[in-house]
Amino acid sequence: MSTQLQFDEKKRKAIAQCSRCGFCRAVCPIFDLTKRPMTNARGKMILLKEVMEGKLPLTEAIAQAFLRCTTCMNCTTNCPSGVDPQEMVKAMRKDMVGAGFDNLFKAMGETVEKTGNIYGETERQDWGHQKGIAPVVLFLGCVGTYREEESIGETLQLLDILKVDFTLIDEVCCSGVLDDVGYTMKGDLARRNIQEIRKTGAKTLITTCPYCYRVFKDHPSYKDLGLEIKHITQFLKDFDFEVKTDKKVTYHDPCDLGRHAGIYEEPREIIRKIAPNFVEPRRTRENAMCCGAGGGFRGAFAKESVKIARNRLSQIIDETGAEILLTECPSCLHNFKNAKRQKQKIEIYNLTEFLARLYRERERPSTKEAA
Ligand code: SF4
Ligand code: SF4
Repeated sequence: MSTQLQFDEKKRKAIAQCSRCGFCRAVCPIFDLTKRPMTNARGKMILLKEVMEGKLPLTEAIAQAFLRCTTCMNCTTNCPSGVDPQEMVKAMRKDMVGAGFDNLFKAMGETVEKTGNIYGETERQDWGHQKGIAPVVLFLGCVGTYREEESIGETLQLLDILKVDFTLIDEVCCSGVLDDVGYTMKGDLARRNIQEIRKTGAKTLITTCPYCYRVFKDHPSYKDLGLEIKHITQFLKDFDFEVKTDKKVTYHDPCDLGRHAGIYEEPREIIRKIAPNFVEPRRTRENAMCCGAGGGFRGAFAKESVKIARNRLSQIIDETGAEILLTECPSCLHNFKNAKRQKQKIEIYNLTEFLARLYRERERPSTKEAA
């Protein structure tokens, strides 16, 4: 195993650019939890400088430290020197694997290859929805399909209520995450998805998962797909909804949807239509704190990931006093639901799921009518 890394010009420049100001500490969800310097961007940049200058050998502990990042991009957004630490983290994870420091995501890659999903599940819920020819394909993603089945079921119902002519496909993991955790995405899986999508004749692909959205839109493996790619909030933003809630509603920006994809306004346009009592958390939009689920962090450090979600949830409750927390990301949803304490009364939904529930409530006869 090599204990040396090669630093190209781009990496050397980024390392030299870091002024060690520490602005990134205040926004790092992992530093917020652990207070350990090597967990935030500043600490990682210092470590890399030492390794680059040969003052520190590359060790297993350093390779592990680079897994401690949710790639939330909050450090990047707040760095006054223009450094992009999360891109460095992703690049260094690859270099460290290349140097022989395999990490637990090697096994995840093998699972994805074998079963087509990150969890190694062999059966998936049948929502009773058609698969065939349609103008729109809905891609569900692993987390929604295998961990947030109820929420996904509601999203499908909403599309039916809104009379969207859409189809599901026999999808497999987009596998983009492997590129972020030290390995490479599985080209075979991408080709299978492309083949299934093409069979539908669809012109538009929509995803509920912001990460899948980014992979379909930006990853070279999907560049020839030839469809319009939309996150479901972009797809639904111009619809008229015939439902409303009086409850106090707030919204959490998923890192992959907000900072990474720049989609802030579309979910808010939908929420404003249905919730006049909409209130923003103090740390919102590009400054929203991460829920702790991304960048492979939940897979590697599940307990810490849930603690980060707990911090973010408490922050949102304290800052807004909301009764309903909405987001549109199966990973954020899943982490928040795991983090919620019994005494916390806030209800947590994906926006599309919440809309479907509002429609159902509208159909339900009132107690008076029922009597
Ligand atoms: S904010 Fe930027 S320049 Fe400052 S310590 Fe963090 S990475 Fe370095
Ligand atoms: S991307 Fe997020 S988790 Fe990673 S170092 Fe930056 S602020 Fe911390």
